[in-house]
Amino acid sequence: RLFMPEMDKEARERQSLDSELHSAVTEGLIKVFYQPLMDAKSGRLVGAEALARWQSHSGRYISPDKFIPLAEENGLIKQIGKSILLSACKDAAFWRSNYGAEFRVAVNISALQCSDMGFIETIEKILQETGFPPELLEIELTERTLVADSHAATVFMEVARGMGIRLSIDDFGTGYSALGYLRKFPFTTLKIDKSFTSEISDKGKGNALISSIIQMAHALDLEVIAEGVENEFQREFLIDCGCEILQGYLLGHPVPADQFLLNIELL
Ligand code: C2E
Ligand code: CA
Ligand code: CA
Ligand code: CA
Repeated sequence: RLFMPEMDKEARERQSLDSELHSAVTEGLIKVFYQPLMDAKSGRLVGAEALARWQSHSGRYISPDKFIPLAEENGLIKQIGKSILLSACKDAAFWRSNYGAEFRVAVNISALQCSDMGFIETIEKILQETGFPPELLEIELTERTLVADSHAATVFMEVARGMGIRLSIDDFGTGYSALGYLRKFPFTTLKIDKSFTSEISDKGKGNALISSIIQMAHALDLEVIAEGVENEFQREFLIDCGCEILQGYLLGHPVPADQFLLNIELL
């Protein structure tokens, strides 16, 4: 590619990141980390969220906030998303066979994946290949995804629900017209964004907001997962509100699959 002298530094960096991401995908350097999902009341492990990591040649991990938006722009997200889903179902199927648990795995997906008609078939094939039950797969979508292509999202979600797959609305409360989406789409789960969880404190103004979100979710028959739980006060407050599942540094950081297994064995 030709670099114009007037092209600013940012654009050049972006272009080089773009080609580095292409080779990273080809070389299999996009890895999956897992963060535990814990039953709020019993503290038992109920599953994990799969989170993408880019392992650079230096061994350093690059945050998904850096490369997922780029992958969404250049289309690589389809390939990345597929390999994350495959790893997630494979790893979770293995953990289940060893621990016999009702272990679920949550996977994030982007708008471009929703609107790709082949994606449902990919999911079906992966579930078949890995023997992982659809009822234990949870697909996380953000409001941004729903807005991007509302029709495609509707079709995707209806088919996925028909297969028994769970659907959660991620980053709840950070976008627009979230309440309307709860009625319009067949969600099973609501994930409270960590920006709300972080507001929970002994003098928190946000406490009432959280408890009403949880009440509303329950009125709509949705299960609630709170993300970003970092301290004991937040944990206890969320349990008191009836939040079903907790996720956050207090309960466990995202770690590679082999390390996650060790953590499970310690339980
Ligand atoms: P997310 O889906 O909202 O994931 C939760 C993020 O919060 C993760 O950041 C996680 O590491 C972080 N986190 C977990 N517990 C805590 C805590 O107690 N405190 C704080 N401050 N943060 C916590 P991560 O792994 O950097 O991922 C960032 C975002 O990138 C994700 O946000 C998700 O939107 C996106 N992402 C990650 N993996 C994928 C993927 O495979 N596909 C797609 N489409 N997006 C992904
Ligand atoms: Ca998520
Ligand atoms: Ca989230
Ligand atoms: Ca987020």
